Amino acid sequence: MKQRVHDLIGANAPDSLAVVDHDGARYTYGQLEQIAVQMAQMLRAHGVRGGDRVVLLSENGMTYAAAILAISKIDAWIVPLNARVPVNDIEALLDHSGARCMICTVGASAAAAAHAAYYDAVTLGQLPCGDIVVTPVREVAVEPVEAGAGQVAALFYTSGTTGKPKGVMLTHANLTYAATAASGVRGTDANDQVLGVLPGTHVYGFGGILLPVWNAGASIRFLPAFVPEQVLEALQQEVTLFPAVPQMYAALLKVLRDKGVDQVKTDLKIISSGGSPLDPGWKAEIERIFGVHLHNGYGLTEASPSVAVTRVKDPRKDTSVGRVMDGQELLIHDPGTDGTGEIWVRGPNVMKGYYKDPQATAATITPDGFLKTGDLGRLDADGSLHIIGRCKELILHSGFNVYPAEVESVLNAHDAVVQSAVVGRARDGNEDVLAFLVAQDRVSPAELRAWMQEHMVSYKVPLHFIIVDALPQAATGKVLKSELLPRFARELKLMDAKN
Ligand code: ATP
Repeated sequence: MKQRVHDLIGANAPDSLAVVDHDGARYTYGQLEQIAVQMAQMLRAHGVRGGDRVVLLSENGMTYAAAILAISKIDAWIVPLNARVPVNDIEALLDHSGARCMICTVGASAAAAAHAAYYDAVTLGQLPCGDIVVTPVREVAVEPVEAGAGQVAALFYTSGTTGKPKGVMLTHANLTYAATAASGVRGTDANDQVLGVLPGTHVYGFGGILLPVWNAGASIRFLPAFVPEQVLEALQQEVTLFPAVPQMYAALLKVLRDKGVDQVKTDLKIISSGGSPLDPGWKAEIERIFGVHLHNGYGLTEASPSVAVTRVKDPRKDTSVGRVMDGQELLIHDPGTDGTGEIWVRGPNVMKGYYKDPQATAATITPDGFLKTGDLGRLDADGSLHIIGRCKELILHSGFNVYPAEVESVLNAHDAVVQSAVVGRARDGNEDVLAFLVAQDRVSPAELRAWMQEHMVSYKVPLHFIIVDALPQAATGKVLKSELLPRFARELKLMDAKN
């Protein structure tokens, strides 16, 4: 019975391949289990107890995978944190989570090594995958340990795309369900190898990728960072499943176009996307180049994360995210005349709540158990879900609704545009539509305006087109929209003055 996260690997053949590490080292499930047991012993001896929160400051790799199992075995809470976050963010999350200590996967990550030095971390021991480096324990309260699957397994801080990160409590029941449902829907089995380039410290890389791999007895090939050339090289090895976010596909396409590559031969069975809106042009081009379907999916941290995915047997030509996962119920709350409303979901994947924030929890989960996702969607005739945008990002311009995702998809279809992000700005009782973008060739805002006017009704055409070198991104590659207005305030002021 797979009740807890560490039970997920229990039934896998000990001599089958579990991990291809970032340095090429290969580990079987037997070795993964053995390393996890040793690590759990070291952590216990260091003073970690059930109910403690343990920050796992990490980039992808074997040590990270083993640490997840080790923390789960102790009944402590895994608090995954990307090693490349700035020190101020670490401080805030150490405090908010009341972490007992922090594991720094120094071997796999220069950033983790730097933080380890800053926090006076000590080496608890050596294991085949590297040193186990942990900060001194802090005197903190423990949370109660519950028997069974109701115990919290992981505390995830959301990416903060739309505001301050929130601590999402996911239980063992949430995560084991997510692992089983996701591996089932993709038909993953022991012969598959999944490319683990999405950060495992984000719920998509964790509940959406690593845990389903374990449930299926498949293997994972870790890459610690997204470098398009390295991803292309890895994809031409044993990899059969490639999950990524749309921004990664955009970056791959840019490299392939620059190199004049029109086709890539691989063993891939499935390519999948999630996390933010998938551009139809990118989807078509990726499918043509790799010769396999690009499946879309939708989820959020609070839902462990997957809510809907397109089915392997029913690939979609459009960018629908497919039907709701088995075991979950989905409804569109308070739909408008076009059927668009807030997506609500209920099922074994819904989080326990926000840590230390009962008010936010009550505002997000209805008394009868529906999670209000904060996303707008509509269902088509065959029950497939289309994501229209986020409630928070909806722009009300001159009395009309403007959905940023729709504007972005038209902008992205322009040859010169690599990536775009559209946001609203409140001004004089109205909201301006603003487009921030990265462009490949020389293109002027006037040309972009002409393109938009040709393809969109005028109220959706952005007031300004702000061309920048790079858009601020979370570790997953998702654009941090909340940072756009403050970061480019100077550029905006200049544009306002010109108008
Ligand atoms: P925060 O809540 O802190 O602002 P975040 O919303 O980015 O951060 P995540 O849980 O990482 O937190 O992301 C989930 C969100 O990503 C969803 O609520 C949705 O808005 C968006 N999303 C996920 N998948 C898709 C998709 N396929 N298409 C469009 N948007 C998606």
